[in-house]
Amino acid sequence: MTPAAPLPPVPTRVVLVTIDGVRADDVFDPARGRGSFSCLQERSKAAGVALGGGGASCGTVKASGPSYVSLPGYLEIFTGRRGDACTSNHCPRTSEPTLLDELRGHGQSPTSIASVSSWDRLDRAVSRSTDWSFVLEGADAAAPDPSDAALTKLLAAGKRAAGFPGTSPEYRPDVHTMKVARHVLEHQRPRFLHVGLGDADELAHRGDVEGYFGALKASDAFVCDIADELARQGTPGLVVVTSDHGRYSADMRHHGAGLAGSSRAFVAAFGNVIRPSDGCASRDVTLSDIAPTLRVHLGLPPDTSARAGQPIAELLPAR
Ligand SMILES: [Zn+2]
Repeated sequence: MTPAAPLPPVPTRVVLVTIDGVRADDVFDPARGRGSFSCLQERSKAAGVALGGGGASCGTVKASGPSYVSLPGYLEIFTGRRGDACTSNHCPRTSEPTLLDELRGHGQSPTSIASVSSWDRLDRAVSRSTDWSFVLEGADAAAPDPSDAALTKLLAAGKRAAGFPGTSPEYRPDVHTMKVARHVLEHQRPRFLHVGLGDADELAHRGDVEGYFGALKASDAFVCDIADELARQGTPGLVVVTSDHGRYSADMRHHGAGLAGSSRAFVAAFGNVIRPSDGCASRDVTLSDIAPTLRVHLGLPPDTSARAGQPIAELLPAR
């Protein structure tokens, strides 16, 4: 009997959840974070890793800045490159290829790539192109397929609820973003899904501390729900959770250049494709290192730009 030819590798699916403006201490310190991330903590401990919690010999996780506001943070996450010229939330759409663009450029069908975000402006960071079916950023995003009545209905509900707690009339509240993303994961089964949650940051800016912690708790439950659905679908999968920036240590309403704590972020990941480790980063990590890590999982070649980040060793595929 001749040995069977090796099976072609089963493609890993990735869900990236970004939670805007989370203080890393609220992820790692149950007392300070009021246990908001209990599920993420439990999952990353059992089947992954959570980096950015400090520790004497552990590396840090940071946004590269220098402005520590959202759009530059998301640009760093999605392009996997440091030092974008963008320093505010008012920059035009990225001109650099993002993880989504790269997947599409390497033959991945556009309908197997999705991004669903509360903040309407996040589309400027997720792709240099506007030509997507399942990039559903903000409440005005058009239904990709009118024959999908359930999705059309969920998007319409998000539009009716648009605004609060955001500052733009096109902001879709997280509860609706979660429902849309859950539907897309279940029915579209994308190879790569990004979900951008924003209520925590918006409520913190409003000085609503209870609301901020409530948004974190809801985000945590959502992450585990999404992970359960991914596992139920039976393909190898990785869930990665991060934040675009931290918050000012002395006053959680604010974040930005010169406000200590604003650069501090975290990266947590779990799934059946990585090896659990102790939560200590072996080097200092930046948000630009996330996309290069996901490129490895998604089978994309490395980015050769001098500004590109490097894969995070603790999050690489277990072989
Ligand atoms: Zn903010």
